[in-house]
Amino acid sequence: MSDAAQGAAAQPLKPALVREINRALLAWYGASARPLKIRERSDPYGVLVSEVMAQQTQISRVDQLATAFLERFPTLEALAEAETAAVLVAWKGLGYNRRAVALQRAAAVAVAAGGLPSSVEALMALPGIGPYTARAVAAIAFRGREIPVDVNIARILNRLLGSSTPLSPREAQARANEFGSQLADGEAGTWAQAAMDLASTICRPVAPLCDRCPLHQRCASAGQPFHKEPRTATPRTPFAHTRRWLRGRLLDELREAGREGISIAGARGVHNEVAVAATISAMVSEGLAESLGGDRYRLPHRGD
Ligand code: SF4
Repeated sequence: MSDAAQGAAAQPLKPALVREINRALLAWYGASARPLKIRERSDPYGVLVSEVMAQQTQISRVDQLATAFLERFPTLEALAEAETAAVLVAWKGLGYNRRAVALQRAAAVAVAAGGLPSSVEALMALPGIGPYTARAVAAIAFRGREIPVDVNIARILNRLLGSSTPLSPREAQARANEFGSQLADGEAGTWAQAAMDLASTICRPVAPLCDRCPLHQRCASAGQPFHKEPRTATPRTPFAHTRRWLRGRLLDELREAGREGISIAGARGVHNEVAVAATISAMVSEGLAESLGGDRYRLPHRGD
C-alpha cells in the first residue's frame, strides 16, 4: 500500500510523495500529450477562448472549432469590437451559446481595463469567468501556481488519495494546491493539461486503465474497477421536446437569416407559438437575440 493509501483524505500527503507524483505525471505528459492544435496557443487570449469553449464541450470538438474562431477573431480587441451576431455565428457547433456572449463581454471589460489580468481574482471578476477558467488561464498563460480543478481533475485527486467520499470543491482545490506547491514556477498549467489528458485517456470515470497509468505505484485506488453506478430508470424526455432543442433551432434560424431576421410566428416542432415566444424572449434577455418589432427578431447587431 502506498503512503497515499494509508492516509484519510483529510491528511496532507508527504511532500516527497507529492513530488514523485508530479514528476511521474509531467514525464508521462512529455511523452504522451494529446496532439491538440489549441495547445499551440499559450497567449492569454488564446487560452481564454479555448478554456471557455472547453466548458461543457468535448475537447476534440473544441480543437476542431477553436482554430477557425481564433482566425476570425485573432485578438482580444477584435473579439470585443465584433458584432455579437458574428461571434454567435462563429460559435456554431459548440453549443451553450450564452458562453459566447459572456466571452465577448469579458473581452470588452478586459480591453477597457488595458488587457487580460494575470491574477485568478481579477480574471474571476470578468463576466462568465468562473474559478476553473480563471485558474486555467492564470496557470497556462501567466505561469500562475494554482492548479485549476474541474470534475476530471477532482476525480484523479480523489483516487490518488483513496478518499472514501468525494472531496468537496474546496477540499479538492486545497489538495490540488498541495501539488502546485511542489511544482516549479510555470509548471501548474502543464500539470493541469497532463491531468486532463490522464483523466480522458486512462483515469476514466469507469474502468480506469490503471495498468497503463504513470501514477499506478503511488495511487491509493490503483486496480479498483470503478463500475458505473446503476441508475434508477427515469423516462427520458426526447431531445426534440426540450427547451434546449427549441433554443438551438431558433438560434440556427437566426444565424441563417442574417440582418433581416426571422418571424417567430408558428410552431417549431412540438413547441407551440407560446413556447416559441417565451423562448425568444429569454434569448433576448440573455443577449442572444434582439427584437426588430412585432414578431421579428435577429441576432444582436449594432445599429442597422
Ligand atoms: S492508478 Fe488507476 S485510479 Fe489511480 S490515477 Fe491511475 S488510472 Fe486513476
